[in-house]
Amino acid sequence: MRLAQPKQIMIMFFMPRPGPRGYSFATLARQAATGHAGWRPAWRTPALREAYDFVIVGGGGHGLATAYYLARHHGARSVAVLEKGWIGGGNTGRNTTIVRSNYKLEINQRFYDYSLGLWETLTRELNFNVMFSPRGVLFLAHSDSDMNALAERGDAMRLRGIDAELLSLGDVRRFAPILDCSPQARFPIHGGLLQRRAGTARHDAVAWGYARAADALGVDIIQNCAVTGFDIAGGRTIAVRTTQGRVAAGRIGVVVAGASSTVMAMAGLRLPIETHLLQAFVSEPVKPMVHSVLLSGAVHCYLSQTDKGEIVLGGDLDFYPSVSQRGGLHRIEQVAAQAIAMVPALGRLRMQRAWAGAMDMTMDGAPIIGATPIEGLYLNGGWCYGGFKATPASGYTFAHTLATGAPHPLNAPYSLDRFARGATIDEAGAGPTPHLH
Ligand code: FAD
Repeated sequence: MRLAQPKQIMIMFFMPRPGPRGYSFATLARQAATGHAGWRPAWRTPALREAYDFVIVGGGGHGLATAYYLARHHGARSVAVLEKGWIGGGNTGRNTTIVRSNYKLEINQRFYDYSLGLWETLTRELNFNVMFSPRGVLFLAHSDSDMNALAERGDAMRLRGIDAELLSLGDVRRFAPILDCSPQARFPIHGGLLQRRAGTARHDAVAWGYARAADALGVDIIQNCAVTGFDIAGGRTIAVRTTQGRVAAGRIGVVVAGASSTVMAMAGLRLPIETHLLQAFVSEPVKPMVHSVLLSGAVHCYLSQTDKGEIVLGGDLDFYPSVSQRGGLHRIEQVAAQAIAMVPALGRLRMQRAWAGAMDMTMDGAPIIGATPIEGLYLNGGWCYGGFKATPASGYTFAHTLATGAPHPLNAPYSLDRFARGATIDEAGAGPTPHLH
């Protein structure tokens, strides 16, 4: 290992960091010495103006990232993010934080691997620790056909230059000794596909980091401001109506995750989306025991361990459409049973919290990013189970689309009209059946 020289360490600590108001070592030391009384809020609380060039509806990670990239890469200086509650209080703050790019279809590989690349430098770009932790994501195989499917996926990934390793049963045992790899296991393991560059990130920090960086570039973040309607004239959106008043807008980007159908219905649009509940839950904190993300598609159960020590568990949808953000006990019971079958050492853990998010499931399992039939109105949604990992690329490409009025090459295939054209992107090959994606 090559150690940094003292001079380099001094430069790392005291050099001004890129991005907004620096959280440098010097700032931290000064605040510590003065009782932390001098911290300013990380973003402003501005008054809502009457008009903006760009209005982003929804202050989740995707909406905030969109605003940030609009200001950062497209020089937009009149941008508002309108959030009905508090920023990051939607699915951004409810997800299980898995970040990966292990897709089989080229369209998805390009998009999600670009996103993973942005994750790798995000902490430095935002000067805010998003705690990106590339601890590896292991997909498990429980049958020969699972192994074949994972081998195919791994080959497809490597053809695009994305890291993927097919693991034998022995390799899995060595990589994750906590798994029950015995032949008597309820779901016997045959092997797995590992992406080492994949991992987790701190979800709240992503919202806060983008918010802080966007605010520093002049973006107005307006919380407690729900959009209640659109003013449309001559087939073009000209304003949004909100609980804080009317706001004229040049272009409007709707990024409201599980509320996409409800919000777009205000503009008279019906989406190919069903909204379902997805739950997750965490255990009491324990010493480090799960060192990567372990995931079984066949069993539909996944787990990882937070830096605090909690085991995070998730599984399948609750399987009835709802926007309630509260799930049923049946799913928790099933996921817990499956997780214990995979990792018997979890058996005596006590669970602390469970929650749910409303997922907008598209009919092909891929997102929608782009124009709508109404001029000036753009949609970013339909992220199904997996939009957290897409946050940087979603914001980056949606900002491009909003600024230029045209799709970025990475998001062009995710257009809304693909459903009318028959150009769906069916990664799982499961057709218009949300729970199979
Ligand atoms: P959100 O964070 O939900 O932001 C949308 C915002 O819009 C909300 O804050 C909401 O209040 C606001 N809004 C809604 N209506 C209005 C309105 N009328 N006016 C103004 N604002 C409005 N993805 C992964 O990649 N990895 C995972 O491990 C993962 N695990 C998940 C586990 C669970 C339990 C859940 C629920 C989701 C998971 N996801 C995961 C999916 C991921 O969380 C989402 O796809 C992603 O966070 C969506 O981000 P967003 O910014 O679009 O949505």
